Amino acid sequence: MTTEDRKAELAKSLAEVEARIERACAGAGRSRDEVRMLAVTKTFPATDAALLTDLGVTDLAENRDQEAGPKAEEVARLRPDAAPRWHMVGRLQRNKARSVVRWAAEVQSVDSVRLADALDKAVAAQERPPLDVLIQASLDDDPGRGGCPLPGLAALADHIARAGGLRLRGLMAVAPLRADPAAAFERLARAAETLRHEHPEATELSAGMSGDLEQAIAHGSTCVRVGTALLGGRGLASP
Ligand SMILES: *Cc1c(COP(=O)(O)O)cnc(C)c1O
Repeated sequence: MTTEDRKAELAKSLAEVEARIERACAGAGRSRDEVRMLAVTKTFPATDAALLTDLGVTDLAENRDQEAGPKAEEVARLRPDAAPRWHMVGRLQRNKARSVVRWAAEVQSVDSVRLADALDKAVAAQERPPLDVLIQASLDDDPGRGGCPLPGLAALADHIARAGGLRLRGLMAVAPLRADPAAAFERLARAAETLRHEHPEATELSAGMSGDLEQAIAHGSTCVRVGTALLGGRGLASP
């Protein structure tokens, strides 16, 4: 496929996703500008990410540090003036903290005190501005899928709020497999509301992907993370 063809394809899917977000906001009686969209470029090349910035996308997300670091560098080389914000949305090991803070403006997948401490230290060592963080909440209590169980959110939030290098921005979650996403997003919305009593600055609620962004927006999502619907399928071997 030529670059022009790929750009046209991405423009079409971007318009379709935008229309879905607008309809969902209207249906929920919410303003379109309450919901930001992250384009999840994992498994797709830096050239696709660069084309998305040409089309006006400002926020890009990745789920693996090893892939994201080089990709962010390449996009910066391809489009020196674009300056997209990169978001980490995948499971993160503490030993990757130093690497992640070099490319990520925001980490949405903080789920433990130990990881928060590692990121805080990495920010200090890097002498960079504070890192925006979201706590990943677990909606299925499956430790294999990551996330902090809901009863642990308050303590983790208090810890992050005290860390000088981190800015607590809110919650993120992935809907459980084989379950009604609307019910899960409702539990998440309640947890987010509770969190805001103690941490009014934690206003972000990152929920909704290609398959369930409408339900997430209906339940107060302020940030949808869209991969497949924008860029196409990732194939079986991909995460
Ligand atoms: C891959 C991924 C997405 C995007 O999923 P799609 O179904 O392709 O839109 C969103 N959030 C996280 C955490 C992801 O890993």
